[in-house]
Amino acid sequence: MLNTAAYRLSHFLSSIMLILAGVVLTSQQGFASITWLHSFFSTLFEVLPILLLGLGGLLCLFYGRTRQAALLIVVYLSHYILANEADYFRTHGVVRESTALTFHMCSLLLPLLYGVYAAWSERAQLVQDLVARSAVLIAVTGVAVAMARRYPDDVLQWLVAIRVEQLQGPLTQALIQFSYAAFALTFLVLLIQYLRHPRVLHASQLVAVLGLYWMLLNTFMLPEALVVMSSMVMLALIVAVAQEAYQMAFLDELTGLPGRRALNERMARLGRNYVIAMTDVDHFKKFNDTYGHDVGDQVLRMVASQLRKVSGGGTAYRYGGEEFTVLYPGKSISECLPHLEALRRNIEEYRMRLRDKQSRPEDAKRGRNQRGQSKSQHVSVAISIGVAERSDEHRDPQEVIKAADQALYKAKEAGRNRVVAYGQKAVPATRRKAVATR
Ligand code: GH3
Ligand code: MG
Ligand code: MG
Repeated sequence: MLNTAAYRLSHFLSSIMLILAGVVLTSQQGFASITWLHSFFSTLFEVLPILLLGLGGLLCLFYGRTRQAALLIVVYLSHYILANEADYFRTHGVVRESTALTFHMCSLLLPLLYGVYAAWSERAQLVQDLVARSAVLIAVTGVAVAMARRYPDDVLQWLVAIRVEQLQGPLTQALIQFSYAAFALTFLVLLIQYLRHPRVLHASQLVAVLGLYWMLLNTFMLPEALVVMSSMVMLALIVAVAQEAYQMAFLDELTGLPGRRALNERMARLGRNYVIAMTDVDHFKKFNDTYGHDVGDQVLRMVASQLRKVSGGGTAYRYGGEEFTVLYPGKSISECLPHLEALRRNIEEYRMRLRDKQSRPEDAKRGRNQRGQSKSQHVSVAISIGVAERSDEHRDPQEVIKAADQALYKAKEAGRNRVVAYGQKAVPATRRKAVATR
């Protein structure tokens, strides 16, 4: 099932920027016209591909991303092979006899191998995975080289033959027809992969295909296309690995909010004034017990989505379980209280829709017939908030958290669904609905 809420532009941002930077740097006006920039980048790009392969490859292996390591190798190898041909062409003004065959083979094998590796997700066993990927690379390149050596003319003829006349036009002449098909297939497979599993890694793999396509189109046309674009593609893949590693360390997987580690990092560099609010979902256990763990998770995601929008300059973190922390740097308690009260009210007023599991039809056909009339029920959720600020009494964040926790305890005791500041007397409960209502 496709989860449209999970698609994010941010998944694509870094890779699109890098590929676009590659296009700009390579284009005649953007790159060559500024002399000092040109010489700086020329020197940089002489060493960049091998540097990226070495350091990026190590990073990928460190995080168990054998897939990305294999992709780096494929991109580096094609860059290396094509650079030999392109350099010869640039210094002699003519291409080698073998250039056409080498280029066309690369333009077919690069998208295919790239697609296979990108779509092939990692196995649990790192070594087995690496061996399997290396075996594929060795087998494919081995067969390709052997064929090209033994039957160079036949292979070239077979590659360049136009099979579909209708597809031949001014826009599809730079590469062989097989290459366009291979790129289209790889792009499609990786698009489906992203749609099914929206992740930064999958987004970067998809965008990188476009970079590789552009690189091949311009290999002999733009002097720096090969080295710049292969570097940018490799960089996009490496950045995605680093981005996911960051997400794993600092973001909570269920809610997408920054997690406890991120909170600790932030608390280590707070100034003199700040406010910490501890929030806890009221009677949360009942949601789990009544509707199941999945609905419990849904509740947590909804609460987190409201917390993310908290006003007044606060940042929300998942503290653990059904507890969240809101941090207000540089603020006093009186400045934050109205915003926390608004947050509490927003969550209280939010009507969360659940599909009634009991009324869910057993078989697909009945389900189709009943669609649109299926019973759904609404639940409302409430949170309690305890809030404290840095003061002479509570001088470090841990002490402020403790004070906020005490205030939270008071809020619970006084009947839940309320905001209580440390030192403030909690107002006894008026009748409030705190848990699920139909
Ligand atoms: P109170 O109003 O006093 O806070 O009552 P409560 O039921 O919310 O408090 P309690 O601490 O007893 O329950 C917390 C429950 O949250 C227990 C635990 O099973 C559940 N929980 C913790 N993390 C998760 C999670 O990630 N998903 C789900 N579905 N449940 C979780
Ligand atoms: Mg709790
Ligand atoms: Mg609770």
